[in-house]
Amino acid sequence: MLEGIHILLTYACNFECDHCFLYCTPRSEGTFTLQQLKTLFVDAEKIKSLKWVYFEGGEPFLYYPLLVEGVRMTRALRLKAGVVTNGYWATAAEDAVLWLISLSEADLADLSVSDDLFHYEDDLNLAKRAVEAAEMVGIPVSTISIEKPTLEVDKDQEKGEPVVGGGCMFRGRAVEKLTEGLPRRLWHQFNQCPYEDLEDPKRVHVDSFGNVHICQGISMGNMWETPLHQLLEEYDPYTHPVVGPLVRGGPAQLLREYQIDHEDSYVDACHCCYSGRMKLLDQFPQYLTPRQVYGEGLS
Ligand code: SF4
Ligand code: SF4
Repeated sequence: MLEGIHILLTYACNFECDHCFLYCTPRSEGTFTLQQLKTLFVDAEKIKSLKWVYFEGGEPFLYYPLLVEGVRMTRALRLKAGVVTNGYWATAAEDAVLWLISLSEADLADLSVSDDLFHYEDDLNLAKRAVEAAEMVGIPVSTISIEKPTLEVDKDQEKGEPVVGGGCMFRGRAVEKLTEGLPRRLWHQFNQCPYEDLEDPKRVHVDSFGNVHICQGISMGNMWETPLHQLLEEYDPYTHPVVGPLVRGGPAQLLREYQIDHEDSYVDACHCCYSGRMKLLDQFPQYLTPRQVYGEGLS
């Protein structure tokens, strides 16, 4: 049962992080209009299990009036609203408070701020100021911290071989930028998806193109063609051409079922999954979309 909708308010971001799942850049296209948000919320009201709506991106503060209105619409449905941000707007303590007042008045229930060295190479003050400002105006605040990939000893492996730590998942730009030189495991060991509940998603990400992402870049369908509540009712993970194999045997099964020409080893399950999906883009364009989250068509 779906509990959360994560609205990718825009794919545009003022940053261009190496670990970004969605290949966001300042030049990325795909921002919700107010009318699209209204259409989505009319439909969201029909999803009775829904508890949360998160606004993220990209960087949702780049479209601030739309963000505030989205939080208001969420509260009008008596749902909790959250925002994920890189905190770029917290340029000074007083200014950071100014940015947050309208969101506080709209009853924002969670502000998640990225505060790691991926986002701020040598200066975490922006993120810290954003956190302090949220505390001052009474918005519950948390931080998201992803470290650069580190080597750790996997105690489950017999020889204590090093594995990758640091919380980074290797999808999107992380595959292109961060996998080189990291330890790998044989492809057939990735026999399940470790992160998403693909059979019964508790959350989906939606974008302005209408895509309903089960995991970033894997679409359930298009909500501008079929209403979201109907897509959720009709979703069958076992017959979905990409999710089906993932449920049956993880990324390794995806490679097997489609006889994908693959490498012997990958850094993690997402690296294996994403690399396999890259080879299926032309076969399943309506399910592996939008192409920009696979690094295509970016300037
Ligand atoms: S990881 Fe976040 S802050 Fe970095 S480019 Fe992607 S959306 Fe922007
Ligand atoms: S294994 Fe695939 S479906 Fe699962 S979280 Fe990683 S990229 Fe997403």
